[in-house]
Amino acid sequence: MDLDAALGLIAEVPDFPEPGVLFRDLSPLFASGEGFRAVTDALAATVPPDVDLLAAVEARGFMLAAAVGYARGLGVVLVRKPGKLPSVAGRVDYALEYGTAALELPENVVAPDSRVAVVDDVLATGGTVQAACRLLEEAGAVVSGVSVVLELAALSGRGVLDGRPVHSLRVV
Ligand code: 5GP
Repeated sequence: MDLDAALGLIAEVPDFPEPGVLFRDLSPLFASGEGFRAVTDALAATVPPDVDLLAAVEARGFMLAAAVGYARGLGVVLVRKPGKLPSVAGRVDYALEYGTAALELPENVVAPDSRVAVVDDVLATGGTVQAACRLLEEAGAVVSGVSVVLELAALSGRGVLDGRPVHSLRVV
C-alpha cells in the first residue's frame, strides 16, 4: 500500500471528544497491516540519521515509536501521563486543544547530550509535543526532530515548537 492510501485510512470523527472538534481517528490505519507498515516506513525515513533515541508520547506515540524504533534500530523512551512511572526525572503541565494535561519522563533513561527524536500521531496545538521536548531538554538532551503522522495546520502546532524540526507525513 502506498503512503497516500495508508493515510486515507484515517477516519474523521466530528464532535469528538467535544462538540466542534473534528477528531482524526488512526484506528483503521493501525488495524491495517499494509497501512501501518507504509506509515512506519515513511515515519522512519523522517528520523534524522544522527539520532540516539526515540521519545514516544503516550499513548498512540508508543505504537508508532516502537515500530519506527524497530525499523531504525533505535530504542524508545516512554513519555508518560502522570502516575505511571515509579521514578520521574521531570514533569511538565500544559494546555490541550480540549482541557489540560501533564507528561512525565522516567529517571535515568535519557543521557545528557543525547540526540532524541520525538514521535507522536497528531500535532494539533503543539502543547503535547512541546511538553515532551521541554522534558527532554530539561534532562539535557537535544531534540533533533519531531515526527508525526498528521499535522493540523489550523491549530499552528509547529509555531509553538520554536524552530525544532517538524516532519509530518501529511498536513491537513
Ligand atoms: P496538541 O497537544 O498538539 O494539541 O494535541 C496533540 C495530542 O493530542 C497528541 O498526543 C494526539 O494524540 C492528541 N490529539 C489531538 N487531536 C487529535 C486528533 O484529532 N486525533 C488524534 N488521534 N489525536 C489527537
